[in-house]
Amino acid sequence: PDAPHGICGASADVLVTRNLLRAVAAGLGCYIHVVENTALNLRNTAIEKGTLKGLGALETLCKKFGITGTDDHEKALKVADAVLADIYKPEYVKMDLVEKMAYPPRFKVWKELGILPGGSKSEVFRGVVKTSTNLNSDPVNMLLDCLKLGISTGIYGLTLTNLLNDVLLGEPEITMAPVGLRVIDPDYINIMITGHQHTMFVRLQERLTDPDVVAKAQAAGAKGFKLVGCTCVGQDLQLRGAHYTEIFNGHAGNNYTSEAILATGGIDAVISEFNCTPPGIEPICEELLIKQICIDDVAKKANAELKPFVFASREEDTNAIIDELVAAYKERRPKVKLNLFPEHGYDNTLTGVSEVSLKKFLGNSWKPLIDLIVSGDIKGIAGVVGCSNLTAGGHDVLTVDLVRELISRDIIVLTAGCSSGGIENCGLMVPEAAELAGPKLKAVCKKLG
Ligand code: SF4
Repeated sequence: PDAPHGICGASADVLVTRNLLRAVAAGLGCYIHVVENTALNLRNTAIEKGTLKGLGALETLCKKFGITGTDDHEKALKVADAVLADIYKPEYVKMDLVEKMAYPPRFKVWKELGILPGGSKSEVFRGVVKTSTNLNSDPVNMLLDCLKLGISTGIYGLTLTNLLNDVLLGEPEITMAPVGLRVIDPDYINIMITGHQHTMFVRLQERLTDPDVVAKAQAAGAKGFKLVGCTCVGQDLQLRGAHYTEIFNGHAGNNYTSEAILATGGIDAVISEFNCTPPGIEPICEELLIKQICIDDVAKKANAELKPFVFASREEDTNAIIDELVAAYKERRPKVKLNLFPEHGYDNTLTGVSEVSLKKFLGNSWKPLIDLIVSGDIKGIAGVVGCSNLTAGGHDVLTVDLVRELISRDIIVLTAGCSSGGIENCGLMVPEAAELAGPKLKAVCKKLG
């Protein structure tokens, strides 16, 4: 470890940037997998003239992309095709939507730096090649590639995935929702969902409240079915919970909380399609007879049944899955002792904050928020987003402590992903959390109720 170079002559800078670029390429690959499937689901729904719940988001996308159409389905098809066409381009052809989506001054800088991304699937390929043994040894060149891949991740993997989800699943609405282990209602057949590809659950969500399907649950002794949110897909369902009040019982927790959620015994099945579905849940499912079904083999668990999501056969596949859920419930409930925590979590957690819903809440203008920042009542806004991890003091410890510190200094925190799963379960997203804020932010919160 003390040698200035590796045996091949690579410096520490080369080794570190090579590993970083490889990790960034892998991360982009994951995000592009999600946006690709989301766009394909929107495309197929548009062709079948299925339900589009977020027409506001569709209009936003059409406006940004310069798309017109005779009806919403035609527009949705064109939007999905525009996204797919971009991500399937070769690496040497720049993607068209970057300029349409990006903040113009930022786009200008990217252009000047020469980091406008080509087709993102091909960029992942190039990143893997570039970081293989004794290929690129220029740290600056590799770091510029990290930035380039980051642009694809942000615009396609995050912004566009969210907007396409909005079109299919409905746009977020600001509301109060329950979180934590309390959302597990033992009277129902409980299905924990994990992953990031919410559009794969659309048909299942709809079917689970159909009278013939509810009757199957009732014949087995349950009141019906409930989806219990976990990881990012649960967080996403919570965000859009206003559209799913009947089937979605709340977000129980984030990535590693999934083990505790399952250990309650109240979950009858896990349906997973992406990360984070940690291998640590496998022995718990084994022990507590929890059925595991995986609908995308990229996240196949060792003891899960693989039932890949196929849009064309989703009706038969969904019905078959429902029969398996009922069978799992009937088999396990008489044998498994429940260890519920109905006191864990909160009933009134703020959710549904998006760029659109927040602006609407503020009276269709950002001015009230900007005024509060200018006057110093709010010192600023900080983002605490993405994955939480176990390394800094324990699960969620760093994120929760950080948020406590920020709000005590009159800084508003915007949170998403598994960070918010921990922050909300620790009571920092309920109105009562105003008591933990600094005096100025507290006064603003109280004024807003
Ligand atoms: S936020 Fe991170 S830890 Fe949570 S599900 Fe998404 S990828 Fe996994």
